Amino acid sequence: MTNIPLEAEPIDYKGTEVKNKKTIYLDMDGVIVNFVKGVSFILADNDMHFNWTSMRRGHDLTLEESYDMAKMLGLTPSYFWKQIDKRPTFWDGLHSYPWMKELMDMLHKQGNVVLLSSPSMSPDCVRGKTEWIQRELGNYYREYIFCPAKHKLKLAGPDTLLIDDSTKNVNDFINAGGHALLFPQPWNTAYELVHEEYGEDHVYTQAVIDYMERQLDG
Ligand SMILES: [Mg+2]
Repeated sequence: MTNIPLEAEPIDYKGTEVKNKKTIYLDMDGVIVNFVKGVSFILADNDMHFNWTSMRRGHDLTLEESYDMAKMLGLTPSYFWKQIDKRPTFWDGLHSYPWMKELMDMLHKQGNVVLLSSPSMSPDCVRGKTEWIQRELGNYYREYIFCPAKHKLKLAGPDTLLIDDSTKNVNDFINAGGHALLFPQPWNTAYELVHEEYGEDHVYTQAVIDYMERQLDG
């Protein structure tokens, strides 16, 4: 009887803070969590990742404007968020991107990684994100901060690095005194750089990991 495990073993992210190492704030949605696929499932007829550029041009949006998925879908922000927030299991049901583990392994070698995510207005969002973290990273993973985007800036400093898919968040963090890297996605210029270098297959994990590794070293 004593051999019955009471809880699942945590996976390898113990979240131990190493002194004198920089803090790497890692955005969730659009970096390790596939928010776009989840939204596409309820509001579009296909995964929007695969026709982002044609949709963006169809709506006459700049790269930066296309970060706003409500605009990409031609919906008002209130309708868009209502569709998400009325689904209590939306957030915990999201998939991770295929590069998540490799990216986190790489970042853990460089610093103390803390997930940094801005929740929606729905209380289900924080609950769902917590469930997602425990499922994907282990029941004991406690390295996360949930706060509205404007408060992310208060974490900016000479020893902090933000990795985020939003051009605005990256620029704001740098202007607030931190370091920041743009994570490549079809809604930003980092994606175009990866695309130029790796061609049509850029979405694959290796291209993304190689690109981020070089950004971190540079
Ligand atoms: Mg994001």
